[in-house]
Amino acid sequence: MIEQSSNFGSVMIEALEGDIRGKFRRSGYTLTSQRKAVLDALEEVGGHPSAEDVYIAVKRKNPRVALGTVYQALSVLEEIGVISCKRWSESPARYDLNTAPHLDIRCTGCGRVSEVPGVEVGNLETEIQQNTTYKVRSARLVIEGLCPRCQRV
Ligand SMILES: [Zn+2]
Repeated sequence: MIEQSSNFGSVMIEALEGDIRGKFRRSGYTLTSQRKAVLDALEEVGGHPSAEDVYIAVKRKNPRVALGTVYQALSVLEEIGVISCKRWSESPARYDLNTAPHLDIRCTGCGRVSEVPGVEVGNLETEIQQNTTYKVRSARLVIEGLCPRCQRV
């Protein structure tokens, strides 16, 4: 189940597209039609879809696309920082067009993933780096709970 939470205005989409093009240019990867189709599907589905959710959306317009192609495109998009990916236990990886540091909560009842409003993630990576001798590559908090609907069951 996917929550339709992100409604970007057209100005926002244009800024986003410029940003995406810049990230592709710097990475050396090409924004192929397949990668573009995957991005469009992510935007269309909204929320925090799994690879399979994205695949289903891409397939509607490109019936011959293979699941492996969608996985590869998602992996490139994640690698160059165009999308983010979060992994909870007992759930397929979820993809997100929002790459800014933020918290997402997953309902252990129905599997729905939503953004957590009003809580700052802060400089977790910088602070860990300052307190250890590690060069931090990523720091992700995985939040789980029961959504209002599942609390009533
Ligand atoms: Zn739930």
